[in-house]
Amino acid sequence: MEKKKKRKMKPRLLLEYKVDLVKIEGSGDFPCPQCGAKLSPEDQTEDTYSIKEIKTRRDRLEELVIQCNRCKSFIHLAGFKLLDSL
Ligand SMILES: [Zn+2]
Repeated sequence: MEKKKKRKMKPRLLLEYKVDLVKIEGSGDFPCPQCGAKLSPEDQTEDTYSIKEIKTRRDRLEELVIQCNRCKSFIHLAGFKLLDSL
């Protein structure tokens, strides 16, 4: 008895990007790599993105995972060490 199970497992294609803040000049704003929406790490309102994860090491911000509210892409923000030394 053969019964082929046809499971339609469509994995959600969630795009992930990595942005190194060290390479960003100016106030830290950067366009979303996917849709170009202007994202600012200093924007606390979370209008354009929402913070998904905050990774710290020794009380220092190491990586921030945000999700663009427009295209739902995940963006990993790294490179906070430079900001720390200011
Ligand atoms: Zn986007």
